[in-house]
Amino acid sequence: MLILPDWLIVAADQPPLAGHGVRTAGGLVTDVGPNIDLMSTYPDDLQVDAEGHVVLPGFVNAHTHTYGTLAHGIPAPAGGGPTDFWSFLADYWWPLVEDALDIEMVTAATNWACVEMLRSGTTSFYDVVEAPNALPGVLAAQRAIVEDRGLRARLSFEATERAGADVAKRSLAENVEFIDSCHRETDGPGRLPHVDGLMCWHTTFTCSIDFIAEAFALAAERGVLSHAHCNEGTFEGRWAEDNLGMRPVEVYDSLGIAGPRFQASQCVQLTDRERRLLAERGVRITHMPLANGEVGGGIAPIPELATAGATIGLGSDGYINDLYEVMRGAFLIHKARLQDPQIMPARQVLEMATEGGARALGMDRVGRLEPGWAADVQVVDASFPTPVTEHNLIEQLVLWRNGSHVRDVLVAGRWRVRNHEVLDADIDELQAKTREQATRLWTRS
Ligand SMILES: [Zn+2]
Repeated sequence: MLILPDWLIVAADQPPLAGHGVRTAGGLVTDVGPNIDLMSTYPDDLQVDAEGHVVLPGFVNAHTHTYGTLAHGIPAPAGGGPTDFWSFLADYWWPLVEDALDIEMVTAATNWACVEMLRSGTTSFYDVVEAPNALPGVLAAQRAIVEDRGLRARLSFEATERAGADVAKRSLAENVEFIDSCHRETDGPGRLPHVDGLMCWHTTFTCSIDFIAEAFALAAERGVLSHAHCNEGTFEGRWAEDNLGMRPVEVYDSLGIAGPRFQASQCVQLTDRERRLLAERGVRITHMPLANGEVGGGIAPIPELATAGATIGLGSDGYINDLYEVMRGAFLIHKARLQDPQIMPARQVLEMATEGGARALGMDRVGRLEPGWAADVQVVDASFPTPVTEHNLIEQLVLWRNGSHVRDVLVAGRWRVRNHEVLDADIDELQAKTREQATRLWTRS
């Protein structure tokens, strides 16, 4: 199949190409070139007219909690809303959301979030579910939904000791069993794994050193990455200093975990030493500018980490799932913090939302539209009120587009969105089902 747009963005680090398109076959991009050349070289291919549009890699939402959808608008706990990060968790998120979730709620929210992500250009995501009462089996149930929707995904259960030894044991087992059940054969064209598992634990303040070391060892045995939330606000750093005598990143370094097999999300409140350690050790990082704003966590030092050479992806954290909105947050917030309009150019933001996210998740050949890479593609309206040039197109996209401008989405070479409609999805029914499960959650909690 040939997709023939006005503009092609092969990757965020390359200038957009006017009059270029892509050829896809067998789930991969197989050729890139001027539309005229593609049509003459492959006269028998199906041709998809994308005039007035730009084709670019699908987004990678490198960190989300799909169940978070059910908490949108949930009534504040008795006594008022959270006053700091600890009260956000202890008085609100744990008792009213995570501890009240069951599998039916999680799967309804996952289905809805998949639709929201697809129709705003996201083709891959990493989900972290924490729901002690959805054990066991929640990851397998999510997998069935994700495979139906066709997104590329990494799924994990956020193992934790905060809810007792039994939940701790069963949450680790959930990850191990899911990882073992996934097929991870990656050799050969078209064999990019679609859905896979990751090891995940919560934080240094909800998991003991022994528990963290055990989880990391289980992941290493299986050749998968490990993930933890890290320094989302000031709380974890202070807690670790008081109780472990070290900062959280220093804890991970002392355990031999801080390295390329480890993904640390958030990384908002870091000491200079933690910042250096993350970059020097090659820890994979995800940045959630909007969700960090929501919880009052602060602004992560992402430009500094990027300058130090860190791999960084962008995530929605279960908050606003449209990655265009998340990109806009990342584009603007660091300029304000550092009082420097040159910081965080649009191409760097787009890189985090595409290939950077894929690298943060250890996804092979995802996030660029080069031959041999995944045919994960979005077709986006490129009609702007000012002239489009190769110098301004990426900035125009980051600043002036959102999910409503995404016309088509292809994952692994299959259409999942056509003419703004998510295929095989009854939006009204999915929304009603999600609202029904949110009502159950709110009533229960
Ligand atoms: Zn998170």
